[in-house]
Amino acid sequence: MTFTRHRWLAAATATAAIVLAAGPALSAHEGAPTRWCGTPVTADQPDTISAFLVHVVYAVPADAPDRFAERALPILSDVAAIESWWRRQDPGRSPRFDLLGAACDSGIGRLDLSQVRLPHDAAYYADPRSGFERITADLEEQLAFRAPEKKYLVYYDGPVERRSICGTSPLGPPTGPASCVVYLDSYCGQDVGRGGEAAATAAHELLHNLAALPRAHQCAGNRAHACDAWQDILYPAVESGILLDRLLLDVGRDDYYGLGSTANAGWDVRESPFLEHLDTAFPRAPAPVTGLFAVSRGSHVTLSWAPERAERGGRYRVYRAGELLAETTKLVAGDDAQPAATIEYSVRAADAYGYLSAARTIRVLVGSGVVDQGGALVRDTFPPPAVTGLRASRAGSVVTLRWKPIDDPGDLAGYRVYRDGRPYGSLRRQAWLAVAVARAHAGWSVAAVDTSGNAGPRSRVVHCG
Ligand SMILES: [Zn+2]
Repeated sequence: MTFTRHRWLAAATATAAIVLAAGPALSAHEGAPTRWCGTPVTADQPDTISAFLVHVVYAVPADAPDRFAERALPILSDVAAIESWWRRQDPGRSPRFDLLGAACDSGIGRLDLSQVRLPHDAAYYADPRSGFERITADLEEQLAFRAPEKKYLVYYDGPVERRSICGTSPLGPPTGPASCVVYLDSYCGQDVGRGGEAAATAAHELLHNLAALPRAHQCAGNRAHACDAWQDILYPAVESGILLDRLLLDVGRDDYYGLGSTANAGWDVRESPFLEHLDTAFPRAPAPVTGLFAVSRGSHVTLSWAPERAERGGRYRVYRAGELLAETTKLVAGDDAQPAATIEYSVRAADAYGYLSAARTIRVLVGSGVVDQGGALVRDTFPPPAVTGLRASRAGSVVTLRWKPIDDPGDLAGYRVYRDGRPYGSLRRQAWLAVAVARAHAGWSVAAVDTSGNAGPRSRVVHCG
């Protein structure tokens, strides 16, 4: 998916096609947190749950006044407004914000809100063409806000040259990290804390970031936005003075959210791993993988592992030196790396609801194999999985034994065939064996063997007679 930029524009009153009846002016909406239970720090604090999270950042340029003390509570208030709006739009979902472990009198009062001073001055970030890339590049590269399972909702508190641009976000990626920005100096940013334009901007940019792409009602020449109704949160412009509560999450549910089982194409944001599934009972911590091992020849590394238990919709995320390398439903992954480099790989199991297991980690000397902390090679003691599907069929004077090939070969060397419990022969890769009828009268079983000589559990015994 391409990283296209999208800006949410504050509609100029003169050109707005639809004018809203003015809503009541609120200083703070109902249910807003009354205090923040964190302490101001730059770094993302340790996560309290292992899951895909939306992390909120307050950022100021190097030379601008830091107004964190006065901005923190309004930001929290808007985040709480987004959460309650989302639950009203869809009682089964809510964005999963990154929270602190602190005890607090309100949920969003525990928001892990980072206070960040950016390395460049205000002029460097003010340009509407390059400002967004510069803010997010500095946050991601200089300040390490780039965890593989986080979205960053950034409130930027510096001057902007075009105040009609309220926020900016890339489109997606759906299961990877990205940052989106709400400009506090824009026309929309002025009402932060009111559950109004600034809150609507944050929800709108977050949806872009979660890879919302309208299917049925893309705007002409602006395919990331929905143009079927101005009330849609993904409409390209926001009315002056609007409250988030007046807006809707995918009008008609036919574009990007809650598409239902009839949807046969396109990403449904309702399935985003960054949303809490409030309508499903599920184990909130997938079990870590077992038997993580690697073989390496030349510059190629093959990682393999086994599930602790099978999870519906489960997948595995594979990391090289902390960066996501692959996401797969298989039990094997490959990597091409620099020969003789020592690389740390890890694997986490992810369930269908956005929760992640603890990581299992190994060090690999590329070209050799798994090494311990001291650099010594570690022997593979993890056997391949059991062989299944063994059956025999007779044609003329030959009985053919066949079984299901091991799905994810990893470092598979082949199969060992047993006749009446005793080794009969070994096969490289080939998942069948022909035996003369005269010799077939026996009980047969098969086990997979890896390149280190580990044999997996034997299949069930098939009697030929
Ligand atoms: Zn937009």
